Amino acid sequence: MRTSRFPLFTSKETPADAEIVSHQLMLRAGLIKRLGAGLYTWQPLGLRVMRRVERIVREEMDRINGLEVLMPAVQPAELWRESGRWSLYGPELLRLEDRHERDYCIGPTHEEVITDYLRQELRSYRQLPVTYYQIQTKFRDEIRPRFGVMRAREFVMKDAYSFHLDQDSLETTYRDMHAAYSAIFSRLGLRFRSVGADSGAIGGSVSEEFMVLADSGEDEIASCDQCDYAANTELARSRPAAPAATDPLPAERRSTPGIESVAEQCTLLGLTPGQVIKSVVVMADEAPAVLFVAGDDELNEVKAAHALGAETVRLAEPAEALAATGVPRGFIGPRDLPAGLTQLVDHRAATRVNFSSGANQADGHWINLNWDRDMPLPPTADLRTALAGEGCPRCADGRLEIHRGIEVGHIFQLGTKYSEAMDARVLDEAGDARPLIMGCYGIGVSRVVAAAIEQNHDARGIRWPAPLAPFDVAIVSIGAERSAAVAEAAERLYADLQAAGLDPLWDDRDARPGVKFADMELIGIPHRVVIGERGLNAGELEYRARDATASEALPLDDAANRLV
Ligand code: ATP
Ligand code: MG
Ligand code: MG
Ligand code: MG
Repeated sequence: MRTSRFPLFTSKETPADAEIVSHQLMLRAGLIKRLGAGLYTWQPLGLRVMRRVERIVREEMDRINGLEVLMPAVQPAELWRESGRWSLYGPELLRLEDRHERDYCIGPTHEEVITDYLRQELRSYRQLPVTYYQIQTKFRDEIRPRFGVMRAREFVMKDAYSFHLDQDSLETTYRDMHAAYSAIFSRLGLRFRSVGADSGAIGGSVSEEFMVLADSGEDEIASCDQCDYAANTELARSRPAAPAATDPLPAERRSTPGIESVAEQCTLLGLTPGQVIKSVVVMADEAPAVLFVAGDDELNEVKAAHALGAETVRLAEPAEALAATGVPRGFIGPRDLPAGLTQLVDHRAATRVNFSSGANQADGHWINLNWDRDMPLPPTADLRTALAGEGCPRCADGRLEIHRGIEVGHIFQLGTKYSEAMDARVLDEAGDARPLIMGCYGIGVSRVVAAAIEQNHDARGIRWPAPLAPFDVAIVSIGAERSAAVAEAAERLYADLQAAGLDPLWDDRDARPGVKFADMELIGIPHRVVIGERGLNAGELEYRARDATASEALPLDDAANRLV
């Protein structure tokens, strides 16, 4: 490509509303353009990077025999009613009606669609195991879209789903998938960790997240300084705090008549013992805004809906009720106790926080059940380090360290959650119909691009890891308009590099060298060759790696070979 035909929409200004460096640089380098809240156009330069991520993801999925499909973004509500998630998913699910007044949603994930597809195609255990994947656009009506494509509403995900007759087979594929994910993130040149995770709204028992380590990450990871234990603090903190099923409830916590043990309470709430209650009630001054607060993700709503145990839950209601009280709408996204406190500090109106589980009485009013605890809001700093230094739950001597991470991938052992609900079965060897055992596996393809920038940048701009770079080499010609020798040398190098299979960007604009250098550094091309008259007279080109501080001379005749 030549910049005369591949316009660069770069900018020197740091956009005021971009809080983190990847968002700033993606806008400044002209990778993306904002359309609306959480909606972005991928410009040609940005799309090249995303395509490179996709290519690596595809190669690794194909290597473990994944079959690529492409499912519709718009999904019939019927399927979501079958799985039970139509009422459970909450306001992150964008719902719409067609001209025939039929309900649909724009898929935030595709468990229902793939289960419906394969319950029609899979008949026998002989067809198993099998893994399907797609790279496709998702929509989640995030309560607080931010950081550009990092937390967008419309984003690109690779989602894969595997189908099995038994748990052993699921575990084998899950391990293969874990290895494939490790290969993908290694090939992308990212520093990452896989950590134990909460299964959230997707469901299932075992799940792990892949976290790109970065201070700007929204997740917090606890890892042991002695063994390989690592977990999202959502999980790490919730586990020790979880009550045993046999624990009697202290008398002062028995706010519901007849409920005397944790087990009974769990039954009432539709939770399994050991699961942590994740709803939150905020008190503003003394005005009791006693509400279930819709969190920043679906999890809270799911738990609340479990608590309601009803199909009729209108998950918009809590948010509306909150608005009606006049309590300023804050960012409240705790997933468990007390880890969620880290995010409550953003809710400046809150004077105290009352954690509770919620349940619905027959008359539709919310009541609080047990585990209630009023506590003053600690300062942010204390919250951030609340785990650090604690003993490792796995080994005897280890201490936990806290890091921040960006969730770029998440793998789940789902079990039969969807196949039971949607009656997806195959015949086993004995001819009995058995529910399919499933796994599902996501990668935030568009988020990966932002995460890579968080780890690879400097004051001058992006420093792409080579496999992600939109172009392999920048050729900066100086004065080609006036010098036939420069134009000819640039043309030749450009052609030689292309012939060698590289993707060069020739900056052939009639602009000052400083402007061209700044742009090539901002957009992060890993290698740069400068072609000017002075160098040519000495039979040389000037080469500099993006992360080097000095240039070196390349012999004109051998330049292409040296770059390949
Ligand atoms: P998060 O905790 O960041 O909200 P999630 O746990 O809700 O993510 P999953 O359901 O596990 O997301 O989806 C798989 C992957 O999709 C995530 O690991 C992440 O990389 C990506 N992803 C999820 N939500 C977004 C979003 N709003 N914008 C960009 N990528 C996203
Ligand atoms: Mg989410
Ligand atoms: Mg998550
Ligand atoms: Mg996740």
